[in-house]
Amino acid sequence: MADKKSIEYFTFSQYREALEHFQMHYDIQDVIITPTEVQPKGKPKSERVCRFCGRKNDPGAFKSVSHLIPEMLGNKYLFADFECDKCNQQLSKYENDLAYFLGIFRTLFRIKGKRGIPTFDSKSNTVRAKDEDFYGGRAFNIEETSDQYKSFKFDKETGSCTITYKKHGYIPINLYKILFKIALSVLPQEDAGQHQRAYQFILSEQKYDWVAGMCKIVYFDLPFDFRMTLPVCYLFKKREVQAKLPTHFFMFHFQHMVFQFPLHYNIEDIRSGLYQTGEVDLPFCPPILYRDPGTATCHSEIRDLSSYEKMEEVQQMSFGMDPEYLTQLGAMNPETGEITGIAFKPDEIVRMVIYEGDEKPEFPKFNGRKESGS
Ligand SMILES: [Zn+2]
Repeated sequence: MADKKSIEYFTFSQYREALEHFQMHYDIQDVIITPTEVQPKGKPKSERVCRFCGRKNDPGAFKSVSHLIPEMLGNKYLFADFECDKCNQQLSKYENDLAYFLGIFRTLFRIKGKRGIPTFDSKSNTVRAKDEDFYGGRAFNIEETSDQYKSFKFDKETGSCTITYKKHGYIPINLYKILFKIALSVLPQEDAGQHQRAYQFILSEQKYDWVAGMCKIVYFDLPFDFRMTLPVCYLFKKREVQAKLPTHFFMFHFQHMVFQFPLHYNIEDIRSGLYQTGEVDLPFCPPILYRDPGTATCHSEIRDLSSYEKMEEVQQMSFGMDPEYLTQLGAMNPETGEITGIAFKPDEIVRMVIYEGDEKPEFPKFNGRKESGS
């Protein structure tokens, strides 16, 4: 737990009022930052109790390692000692939907899961992206894999390049469940008992009527400068027990994405009649930043994740380059290093290789001699 009093934080100027409003009603209860070092093992297996299904006194039911935040998001060391193997197996099923929702970003940001940095293939295999060694430097390699050549669009005047492709379909309710599961996992033990209905909801494949209309999140799309390289969870608790508001709010910051929602179905909130009055007017917490964003802005939207129908979305990636610089581009033969007279044709881009600033690839040096067969 981070010392919340010692942290100075900011938000985008467009949300300053919203943050003040939210802070009037909610306190930060906990901030969980994904650790980069091995953590203590937790309770012995014989003493473990599953938070989600209540299983206990059964060390054999806690054989596998349960990640508190999915490993596919880069969490290597934060484990849950309150999740049995059966629940772990059931809840892990939703991770595919999360992966499909994220699309290319785990590859672009080099997030190491169980099997390293994933290779991304778009739906219908039009675009493939992978992390690879290119002339001695680690690079993000993205290429057109269909023969349609429609995915890359390059504007020579502005220098912007946009890559468009379809993500694999995800089921919105499963995305909601996996996010909710992370929220339920960071609850302190003393508050965990209030959320029995939510455990039932996320574990079951049954469609509950009382869930309809409540599976909404606020999703923020931040400029890449404000991304968090490892996931950060924020848990908020309402200041006044009597307030007609959900007791807990959760915010999850992963890379440039922030997901935020209240923890509905809390038994105390249900008992207090919170859900009897129809739609509750909820405050929302804007993204929390650790430096002044100045004039930077961010996009946000409310997403209703209540559907059980597969959703297919188009994703776009854009890069900007200095158009002035582009006029000086030359073509190099990658095998010999020879600079050729071939003009740069933006309409014919089929592959881009992008290095991070600190990578030092070594391209072949042309020695002036024509190699045979090159
Ligand atoms: Zn369980």
